Amino acid sequence: MKDCNCIFCKIANGEIPSATLYEDSDFRVILDLNPASKGHALVLPKEHYANVFELPEDLAGKAFVVAKKVASRLSEGLGAIGFNIVQNNGEPAGQTVFHFHIHLIPRYEGDTVHVGWKPGTLSDDDKKEILDLFE
Ligand code: 5GP
Ligand code: ZN
Repeated sequence: MKDCNCIFCKIANGEIPSATLYEDSDFRVILDLNPASKGHALVLPKEHYANVFELPEDLAGKAFVVAKKVASRLSEGLGAIGFNIVQNNGEPAGQTVFHFHIHLIPRYEGDTVHVGWKPGTLSDDDKKEILDLFE
């Protein structure tokens, strides 16, 4: 299941060359073209899934194992002092390429990476509504 108009399908399957850190039968991990920090990498499945909701569970599990392995190597090798693993779904959440990917972002003293939100408060109504979804 490839999408021939999808840039990440082409990169993941080697039709477009990329700076590849890791490859197996299901995934390719590449350096981001516009890195948030030194070593910013992307875990790409070779099959096309637009987002985490389309991704089959077995690949979701494997993707995080790959993310952990490559993140560990990057973190140690580059001397990162922190590490963000980020995954965006949908335009409002910051997704710009609609082929599932996991961002691996090493963090350094004084870097300019921003991953954050303003902490809110959990209302009783919201808590009930959400907990009811899982009953
Ligand atoms: P998103 O915003 O969808 O979560 O992340 C897309 C990421 O893909 C961005 O960090 C962007 O820099 C990266 N990107 C977009 N096009 C290319 C490309 O052609 N090659 C590589 N290596 N990275 C890309
Ligand atoms: Zn794709």
